[in-house]
Amino acid sequence: MKAEIMAVGTEILLGDILNTNARYLSRELALLGIGVYYQTVVGDNEERLLNAFKLAFDRADMVITTGGLGPTDDDITKETGGKFFNLKMVENEEAVKNVKDYFKGKEMPKSNKKQGFVPEGATVFYNHNGTAPGCMIEKNGKILIMLPGPPYETEPMFEEYVLPFLKKKSGFTIISKVLHLSGIGESAAAEVLSDIMSESENPTIAPYAKPNEMIFRVSGRGESEEEAKNIIKPVVEEIYGRLGKYIYGEDGCTLEEAVIKELVKRNLTLASAESCTGGLIAGKIVDYPGASEVFLDGVVSYSNESKVKRLGVSQETLDKYGAVSEETAREMAEGVIKAMDADVGVSSTGVAGPGGGTDEKPVGLIYVAVSIKGKTTVKKLNLKGGRNKIRNRVVTEALTLLLSELKGISE
Ligand code: ATP
Repeated sequence: MKAEIMAVGTEILLGDILNTNARYLSRELALLGIGVYYQTVVGDNEERLLNAFKLAFDRADMVITTGGLGPTDDDITKETGGKFFNLKMVENEEAVKNVKDYFKGKEMPKSNKKQGFVPEGATVFYNHNGTAPGCMIEKNGKILIMLPGPPYETEPMFEEYVLPFLKKKSGFTIISKVLHLSGIGESAAAEVLSDIMSESENPTIAPYAKPNEMIFRVSGRGESEEEAKNIIKPVVEEIYGRLGKYIYGEDGCTLEEAVIKELVKRNLTLASAESCTGGLIAGKIVDYPGASEVFLDGVVSYSNESKVKRLGVSQETLDKYGAVSEETAREMAEGVIKAMDADVGVSSTGVAGPGGGTDEKPVGLIYVAVSIKGKTTVKKLNLKGGRNKIRNRVVTEALTLLLSELKGISE
């Protein structure tokens, strides 16, 4: 089967947004063994879109579009796809439900009504993340699949509906293993794997960078589940061999989950003392439902006075080195252990900006510390970005340090 990927949207032509859907879909189709020979981008214009469909279906059996399924007049993909196949637009119960569900009983703007219409006979794909249902037309041996534009709508819809449909057609089984990494950036990690990433077609190795997280998905194609598993196994082992110290979990595991599991395994309790993160570390920890087993307390200690009173940081340390210093971070982590009678302490102190930076202590200078069984490790960070970006990065850095220190202690 030959496929063509078509992004519909003037924004892409103008360079306002990057066509990341094409990258995502191309990777997925390559894995299924479906050839993609052309990727097209076309604006929100009926005549040009009809021409693009004509060209695409002359050279491909299947076209997957993204974008242009919204409620406004310039969202024309479904209507134009229907017109191309001479199908009239009809109201579809499931599509109407999709749009209504999204507004959850609130009054639906009139313009959204058109999203309940699809070309007659089309299969509807329910959108769990937006108002725009997707759909598929199969006619005269050709397949037109139309998906919404925002990647957080496109990708889940592709996985839920299109992937199973195409897997059935291709007769292959696909198995994926997702590896979660922290403590290494996307480009550094990709460099370590560049040779196997470029050589390997089956399995494929795809990096995904999410905020504060790095993911590799290894996907293998086989005629049976067993064969697909055997195809990914050596590559997963190779990645562990090269990047194992950064891999904290598999298949959806979060950093906080990995930290808590490690604490439970070692029967250790945790307390946090946070200045610049103001409770974000504690918040992340309690995101995981099993946190109560190990997490005792989170102190938000913003002022110097609080650091002295609640954590026992010495006034002398604050006077000599300042609140943003290795010494203060150390005393905060050790202090919260004492205050709470905990086994492990984690702390953060720094300049999150946008104001408050000096030449000596610029915005982005942060110290995180972890204390376990009398050993305290402090990490100095020089982070870039706005206040929120910096504070969220600090949380990841603190949890990463926590995990590596926990793993470092003897069983
Ligand atoms: P909606 O469900 O929001 O109504 P839609 O199907 O009408 O979606 P568009 O209006 O074309 O989609 O695009 C909405 C947004 O989706 C864009 O502003 C952009 O952020 C994102 N988007 C659209 N196409 C792409 C693409 N090819 N790659 C990446 N992002 C895209």
